[in-house]
Amino acid sequence: MRSWAGRRVLITSGPTREYLDPVRFMTNASSGRMGWALARQARDLGASVTLVTGPCALKPLRGVRTVNVVSALQMRRHVLARCRRADAVIAAAAVSDWRAPRISRHKLKRSGAALRLTLIPNPDIIKEVGRRRRTHPPQVLVGFALETRRLAAAAREKMLRKGLDLIVANGPASLGSGRMSLTLLDRDGRRLEKADVTKQQAARLILRRALALLKS
Ligand code: C5P
Repeated sequence: MRSWAGRRVLITSGPTREYLDPVRFMTNASSGRMGWALARQARDLGASVTLVTGPCALKPLRGVRTVNVVSALQMRRHVLARCRRADAVIAAAAVSDWRAPRISRHKLKRSGAALRLTLIPNPDIIKEVGRRRRTHPPQVLVGFALETRRLAAAAREKMLRKGLDLIVANGPASLGSGRMSLTLLDRDGRRLEKADVTKQQAARLILRRALALLKS
């Protein structure tokens, strides 16, 4: 069924990379597989899909507009430029929480002494999307919460704080893996739990719930 036909979906995916100097960076273990699964599923359901992705090793998806970015600031710029046009924004990216205040122009030299790093917080991209939410026609905003404890409570708090309609709570085991266990929580207080499903199956559940919220 092409239940998303005529609708635009904007997805963030993958890790971000925050350079310290020309050759060194901070990142995380995100593989981009969740974003890819969502993009593939949304495309197959008939949506026009844009994927804004940090560096990852996955093959580009046919029929999906892919925007490659490196840092959180680049991701933010591309997402904010496109989010008002989207009917659904799904933030699956594992955005680095911090970055260096400036990237050293030259390679940092080893001196034998400790290296002290000062890091500054990155902007919360999906929260900014939430602040710019389009109401006519409505948008649905979906986020992820990767938590190691008090999963559901922390996810619900995150959904409210970021102004989201739906949040996907999952544990750290899903990072970089092809399978996951998830809890879907939405603004209406509905809750759906699924253990050990493929990311493709998870993507189908997420898009089904997101469409129901978009129509309600
Ligand atoms: O606050 P936390 O990082 O746990 O939130 C996770 C959710 O917020 C994910 O949907 C992630 O893509 C999004 N996020 C974001 N920009 C950030 C940090 C997280 O869009 N700087």
